[in-house]
Amino acid sequence: MHQHTLTELSQLLQSKQLSSEEMTKTYLARAEKFNPLLNCYISLSPERALQQARAADKRIHQGNAGPLTGIPVTHKDIYCTDGLKTSCASKMLDNFIAPYNATVVEKLNDAGMVTLGKSNMDEFAMGSSNENSYYGAVLNPWDTARVPGGSSGGSACAIAARLTPVATGTDTGGSIRQPAALCGITGLKPTYGRVSRYGMIAYASSLDQGGPMAQTAEDAALLLNAMAGFDKRDSTCVELPVDDYTASLNNSIQGLKIGLPKQYFGDALDSNIGDLIHTAIKQLQQSGAIIHEIELPNTHLSIPAYYVVAPAECSSNLSRFDGVRFGYRCEDPKDLSDLYCRSRGEGFGKELKNRIMIGTYVLSAGYYDAYYLKAQKIRRLIRDDFQQAFKEVEVIIGPTSPTTAFKLGERTDDPVSMYLSDIYTVSVNLAGLPAISVPAGFVAGLPVGMQIIGNYFSESRLLNTAYQFQQKTDWHRTLPEGYN
Ligand code: GLN
Repeated sequence: MHQHTLTELSQLLQSKQLSSEEMTKTYLARAEKFNPLLNCYISLSPERALQQARAADKRIHQGNAGPLTGIPVTHKDIYCTDGLKTSCASKMLDNFIAPYNATVVEKLNDAGMVTLGKSNMDEFAMGSSNENSYYGAVLNPWDTARVPGGSSGGSACAIAARLTPVATGTDTGGSIRQPAALCGITGLKPTYGRVSRYGMIAYASSLDQGGPMAQTAEDAALLLNAMAGFDKRDSTCVELPVDDYTASLNNSIQGLKIGLPKQYFGDALDSNIGDLIHTAIKQLQQSGAIIHEIELPNTHLSIPAYYVVAPAECSSNLSRFDGVRFGYRCEDPKDLSDLYCRSRGEGFGKELKNRIMIGTYVLSAGYYDAYYLKAQKIRRLIRDDFQQAFKEVEVIIGPTSPTTAFKLGERTDDPVSMYLSDIYTVSVNLAGLPAISVPAGFVAGLPVGMQIIGNYFSESRLLNTAYQFQQKTDWHRTLPEGYN
């Protein structure tokens, strides 16, 4: 059963060949079996899952079920879930039980989905390898000596190993797309404002965006249908009607104008990955797409700009964790200052402290103009590059990540090499655009992702392009050995 996509599982439920309760038990059993090895879950919620499954079965019998009713889902542990621990993979929130649901969780609950548990991640979503978790690293099911990518590595790993059919993720600088690429699954980062951030613990608020992670573009479309939409509790959520993202999947891509940015195929890219992406592009050409070479001249500035803006916003967002109102509090504080210092000192991990320091520095008087303001100006240039490109082409294609999954520990002592993992993803967040990563082949047995970037609110077109590619390829159908 676990080899099925969400779409196939949904058909089994609707035709009553299988109940949600049976399906949920199968996935829970797989999660319990493989999690001790992969460490992709921080918590499982079997009782709640079975309750939700029984309720879903009732809905199916009453004839008022939708395509997601009864389907198991895993939430990244950054989404608040009423009554379940929401740790953000931090000691700071190890004891935090949210008193409410994030809007995304609420919407998927309303659709009748079944929450299996909460997935592991980099602490407060800061990282590209999932090694920055208070609960330990997540392993890549394609090779357990390697990282699954981050920060939504737990969600990506759980889908790749078929411990869950679909999952939620969040993407501030690549955290949906890069782990999707490294684990061989499909992940979509929507346009900034398309999906509510309410109840999604903030990392860098002007960049954070939640989105679907799945085996296929079709499954991602179904999930996005339910996740997207206006929410008055998030002031940056856009009040625009939500497309039916499945409606255009079958459209022909004859005449689709694809841009290949010269800057995405430079020296940083593993040449084997470059070859696979070119093969994938040829396949799209055979379906009628037209290829243009384009320029995104400020690409080299995206990592430096991102690593100023993101830490600045993180230092501000994380100031609320002070040991007073919620989260970790140190033992026997001497006075208020000791309470703040030790609670934060003991509650946050090393990477967070680096970023809080950098963020505080670039925002401080005297340095603000030199760093933060400059980064904001670069951000505008990056956005303008994309807008220039979208005058000529409809989508932009390139690799998602410059390398395949790297070894655990390989980049932990070298933050710059770790940050460079995000070289093709961060500019999309700086510009607020949507982008999807789809499996495009293997190099030495490890999955490679192709990234398709679109203009604002072009999620339908991205999903259509990805779906058409997946009709011609079966990379998304390949399972890591030992999990089939
Ligand atoms: N790897 C990037 C970072 O560490 C992006 C993380 C994310 O998208 N949440 O900030």
